[in-house]
Amino acid sequence: MTDMNNPLEDWSKGVGQEKMLINGEWVEAENGEWLSVENPAHKGIEAGQVPSGGAIEVDKAVKAAANAFKSWKKVPARERGKAMLKIADALEAQSEEFAKLYTLETGNAIATQSRGEVMLTADLIRYFGGVASEIKGEVVPLGEDLLSYSRREPIGVVGGIIPWNAPLALGALKIAMAITAGNTLVLKPSVEAPLTAIKLARICSQFLPKGVLNVITGSGSKCGQSLLDHPMVDKLSFTGSTDVGRAVMKSAAQKIIPVSLELGGKSPQIVFPDANDDVTVQNVINGMRFVRQGQSCTAGSRLFLHESIFDSFLEKLVSKLKAIKIGDPLDESTQMGAIVTKTQYNTVLSYIEDAMNQTGARVLMGGMPPKEGPLAEGYFVEPTILTGVNPDWRIVREEVFGPVLVVIPWKEEEEVIRMANDSHYGLSAFIYTHDMSKGLRTAHEIESGFVQVNQGLGISPGNSYGGFKQSGIGREWSLEGMLESFTQRKSITVNLTY
Ligand code: NAP
Ligand code: MG
Repeated sequence: MTDMNNPLEDWSKGVGQEKMLINGEWVEAENGEWLSVENPAHKGIEAGQVPSGGAIEVDKAVKAAANAFKSWKKVPARERGKAMLKIADALEAQSEEFAKLYTLETGNAIATQSRGEVMLTADLIRYFGGVASEIKGEVVPLGEDLLSYSRREPIGVVGGIIPWNAPLALGALKIAMAITAGNTLVLKPSVEAPLTAIKLARICSQFLPKGVLNVITGSGSKCGQSLLDHPMVDKLSFTGSTDVGRAVMKSAAQKIIPVSLELGGKSPQIVFPDANDDVTVQNVINGMRFVRQGQSCTAGSRLFLHESIFDSFLEKLVSKLKAIKIGDPLDESTQMGAIVTKTQYNTVLSYIEDAMNQTGARVLMGGMPPKEGPLAEGYFVEPTILTGVNPDWRIVREEVFGPVLVVIPWKEEEEVIRMANDSHYGLSAFIYTHDMSKGLRTAHEIESGFVQVNQGLGISPGNSYGGFKQSGIGREWSLEGMLESFTQRKSITVNLTY
């Protein structure tokens, strides 16, 4: 049934060539070209290959989705939800295979990351399947002789584009929200990590009519851009960098179609003097997503420590981080894996190098990676902590998307809020204090869409999640998000005296 060789037996062989899903068929690109997906934990070894699709495949996929929309929109929402529940069960039944493939293509550690993301993905799909009947309208009391009501109708063909950093959960999110709401979808995963999203599509295709979900692969500039510009795409849902987000919005503006953008972040973690303890240290590590190599949009990559606890908190942080085991992500004892690709690895290193060359910067741990030894076999970067940074430096302002934390001291509450909000991003924030009025006061002042007080976790299904400022437009992960982003309201008024 699947073209893939078993990825579980011998990782060094990769999974071979995986195809695109267009109108229920598994196809190669017409140009016959393939793109290589790197296994980032082992330089020079492939995790697999995907077709180098472009405008031709996009056109076929969008037309298939437009055709499938005619009948899918009429399937009762509850039935659409039931299909999601079946997909979630089937995914869970293959969870270990998914976790291994995810590890191969992303370099995330299986024990700390890959298995967790697979389970989160099943949970997420199940959540949307469960709330499907809530896609309902309202009755408006305009008068005794009038029946005025609204319907939540799907929008049509959704063009969904996802990044490489959480490709399974983010692929599933687009699938579950768009398709449960009655739309059809053309999904483009990143060529850097497309394999688990395709494997998920294999499951989906068993439970969805042909054309409802199509998955195309190819570079962002060719395949992605063709999807953005296709005249028959009715809605764009993009997760990725703020720069590409701008291009998505431009394309949407040309056609006046709705767009949701889940973009980057440079999120603050604020520690008050009363939270100088081991639990907060662990929360800060979790918030920075160190064991995801910092490759999370919600990573709390700017740590603001009150000056009275600055040194003692950092001492605890460094000693805990030094105990994290980095290495082969398939090894059960590994806690932190590799950076996703060579390009991303070089980007992260260029940020570190740039900061280290500035006067005053101090590297408390990590820094440039070893050139020899086991960590040189893949794109491994150790947790890196920098102090003595200036608020204008790139490493403080820009999203590094690697395991790099900058630490900044503060004195007054007002000052730390100002510094935390001094960013063009506004995705997430973390606040640590035992004084709840201080914690909530700060949470309300912070310009971010997702704020946690006294924990450093990720997003859960049901949380309306999205960014302030240049971190995005629209909310996802929740029923409200699905309703706002993937349906359109229609008002119908009937004159009953006719
Ligand atoms: P990216 O470079 O913006 O790419 C995201 C997706 O867009 C990929 O599929 C990429 O394709 C595609 N793409 C690139 N150029 C395109 C174009 N001109 N037209 C259409 N599509 C295009 O982001 P990334 O490096 O993959 O991921 C990291 C970024 O995602 C970070 O900024 C992170 O914060 C953000 N992110 C945000 C969230 C959130 O929920 N807010 C979640 C996760 C990640 P190829 O890669 O195949 O070329
Ligand atoms: Mg990219």
